[in-house]
This record gives sequence, structure tokens and C-alpha cells, in this order.
Amino acid sequence: MADTAVTMDKIVSLAKRRGFVFQSSEIYGGLSGAWDYGPQGIELKNRIARFWWKEMTQLHDNIVGIDAAILMHPKVWHASGHVENFTDPLVDCKKCKARFRADQIPPEDLAAKKCPECGGELTEVRKFNLMFKTTLGPVEDESGLVYLRPETAQGIYVNFKNVQQSNRMKIPFGIAQIGKAFRNEIVTKNFIFRTCEFEQMEMQFFVKPGTDAEWFEYWREQRWNYYKKLGIDMKKLRWHRHGPDELAHYAKDAYDIEFEFPMGFKELEGVHNRSDYDLSRHQQFSGKDMQYIDQDNGNERYIPNIIETSAGLTRQLLMLLCDAYEEQKVADKGNEDDWRTVMHFHPELAPITVAVLPLMKKDGLAELAQDIRAELKEDFVTDYDQSGAIGRRYRRQDEVGTPFCVTIDYQTKEDGTVTVRDRDSMLQERLPRARIAEYIRQKIKEYKRPSAGL
Ligand code: ATP
Repeated sequence: MADTAVTMDKIVSLAKRRGFVFQSSEIYGGLSGAWDYGPQGIELKNRIARFWWKEMTQLHDNIVGIDAAILMHPKVWHASGHVENFTDPLVDCKKCKARFRADQIPPEDLAAKKCPECGGELTEVRKFNLMFKTTLGPVEDESGLVYLRPETAQGIYVNFKNVQQSNRMKIPFGIAQIGKAFRNEIVTKNFIFRTCEFEQMEMQFFVKPGTDAEWFEYWREQRWNYYKKLGIDMKKLRWHRHGPDELAHYAKDAYDIEFEFPMGFKELEGVHNRSDYDLSRHQQFSGKDMQYIDQDNGNERYIPNIIETSAGLTRQLLMLLCDAYEEQKVADKGNEDDWRTVMHFHPELAPITVAVLPLMKKDGLAELAQDIRAELKEDFVTDYDQSGAIGRRYRRQDEVGTPFCVTIDYQTKEDGTVTVRDRDSMLQERLPRARIAEYIRQKIKEYKRPSAGL
């Protein structure tokens, strides 16, 4: 019996082999905490972003988007508390030079000041600010100091009034943003789970004080359902409520959605009730009025409370790689063809939607297949592959999670029909070429995650 457990090593290897994720600057030995997304990775990442964006903006009448700059006025980070508090506790081993987050090593090791890896002596715990600094302008001094944003949320808060007034938004309403964030993480491991450069998908929802608890519950439910729609195995998701020691001093309540990665349950996304902290602080530090004026209610003024939903885009990509991965026994011939590795991505998220495969290169089949591909590529991301045995080609597509393979054979020449192979069931159906696009669209709509073997 082969060991089909999903491990991070298998995911990293498939991600590289099939063009999802490469190590940054690999030919120079790599750079820790940074990764590059290959042809399949960028398609997948874009599709997750599009899926989230549609869910949050198109499907909610009262949410609009922005795209704020990564560089912001340094005062933003004083107001937000990041300059003072966005720190991790750091310890180093004097002997083996390993570096740890003090909150992530066993408390008994910390108390004994003995390195959990080599038993050597640990340094005192130091506070380490996670924000990357750089300078704006040609002079490298403190006057030009700026930070690379460690979260996208602040770009939303500082634009609260701009968005509210330009789009005449009425509370409750939300602002969504997808973008890069940077954190000088002390320990980057587990592939793209925790990196120094990553992407976030955040939506900040502005509500009237007193209605926050209700909206908080609403957003918890919405965000849970989002993962159902993504086709995730819901048994691998759970809620984690922040205890008193984890809760930020301003937060009224906070939950994380956690996913069971190969290294255990870890945070995917936070849903937080942030009170009026953010806008109050920006009002205080900027001197600008951040109150909302409720014209429908006698011009009542108040600083809105914020319900935050904050998800990692690149972390969601890792979740999808782990969740979709399956090694499946498909035959019993006693050779390597008995097994396939298949990525069960939701067909709307799969990097390639349809692969067009001529059974043979000769006898005009390749030309016919190219012709059919040309018809399909207006509507779908397509791939074309004419090399090797058809079984091998199906396997290659399974490994990148292509949900549909259209095969062109001799019968196609005679009657214009093709076979369409389903990735999950491996069943094939014959249909006229003119019906392929409609068939695929219908299948995507009806998609249900396969339960067998998963
Ligand atoms: P941690 O305590 O694990 O460092 P956090 O709780 O500070 O993380 P948030 O600030 O709530 O994380 O960030 C929101 C989301 O952004 C996280 O749920 C995660 O999906 C993503 N995220 C945060 N830091 C990273 C990172 N270094 N690499 C990849 N994704 C990240």
C-alpha cells in the first residue's frame, strides 16, 4: 500500500514540477521568504483573487473596491500602532545561530534558555519590528523614512471618507482591497505559508456602533460559506476564537478560520470586530474628522465601528494546493501507470480549463485540434498537447488540475464529434464540437466536489 498522505514535500515538489511556484532567485541559491509564481501559479492566484473579488463586491450591493499605494505616509503606521507594537519576540541560539520566535518554542526551553534544536544557550528575548523600512527620495536619512505596508487595511481606513463621499455610500458599507503586504518574518518556513512578501485580500465593513455584534456574526457566516463555494473539504476548516491573551486591546471579538495544512491547523483568515479604534486613531493623528454624518437620521454623527475580514491570497493558494492534491490508484497492472496524482481544483479556479489533445499528430488530426482550440480560447484558458501517449497526456493535465480534456480522433474527422474527459471521474462523453463550450460552462455551474477518496 503506497503512502498517499499529503505532505508539504509533495506539494512543494508538484508546485515546482508543474509550474505553480518557484523559489525566488533560485539560480542564486534562493532568497528565504520570497517565492515566484509560475505559469500555473499566476493563473490560480488570479482566479482566487477574482473569485474573492466577485464574492465581496459584485455579490454585495454595498461593497466597493480600491487599490491603495504600498507606500504610505509614515504617520499612518504611528496611528495604527504598528511602529510601536508590530513586533515579534526574537531569540537566537548563541551556539548554532538558529533564530526563533520566542512565542513559538516550547516554554520550558525558553525558561531554561536552551536551544530546542541543539541545546545551546539562547540570547535574551528582544522585540523585533516586522516592518520593512526604506527611504523615499535620494537622501538616505530619517526624514525620508517610509515603510512597506505590512497589511492592506490601512489603505482602506485612510480612504474611508474619500470612498464614502465620492460614491455616496451609506453605512453599513464595505471597502475591499487585494494587494501586496510585507513583513520581515523571523521564521519563514512551510513553503508559501509564511513569507516576507505576500498578498492579502481584505474587506473592512463600516457599521453603526451598537450594530457591530450583529454584523460580526453576519460576516462570520459569509466568510465560512465562501470556503464552501470554493469547493474546500469543510472537514479541514475550523473556527478559532481569540482568547483574552490573543485579543488586541481594542478588539471586541475575533475569530480566525483555520485550515488543516499538512503541518496542522493554521490560520487562513481573520474575522475581527475592531470597534472604532482605527478611525478614531486616524482622526487623532491626522486631525481630520473621520465621523460619518447620517443624513437619513437627523445628521447624526459618529465614528463607525469596523468589522474586518482579512485573508491571505497566497496562503489560500497553498490551501488549495493542499486540499486539491490526491494520489489515486486507477489501475492494477503493477506498474507506475496504476497511480495518478490529481489536483481537484474547483473548475472555475483551475489554471487551465480545457486541454485539447489530438489522438495522433498525423492525418490532419493536429490541424483539426488546433482549429477546435482556436474556437475555445475566446472563452476559456486552453492548453494544447500532442506529444506522447494519450494516457500520459491525461496524467499531465490531472497534475495541474485541468478539469476537461477534449480529444480529437478519427471519428472527429468523419462526424465532427469529440470526446470530453472529466478529470475527477475520468469518464468520457462524446459530443458535437459545436456543443463543447456550452457543455463546459454547464459542468462548471453544476460542479460538486468529488467525495470518493478525498
Ligand atoms: P501571525 O500571527 O500568524 O503572524 P497574523 O495573525 O498577524 O499572523 P493577520 O495580520 O491577521 O495575521 O493577517 C491576515 C492574513 O494575512 C492571515 O490570516 C494570513 O492569511 C495572511 N498573512 C499574514 N502574514 C502572512 C505571511 N507572513 N505570509 C503569508 N500570509 C500572511
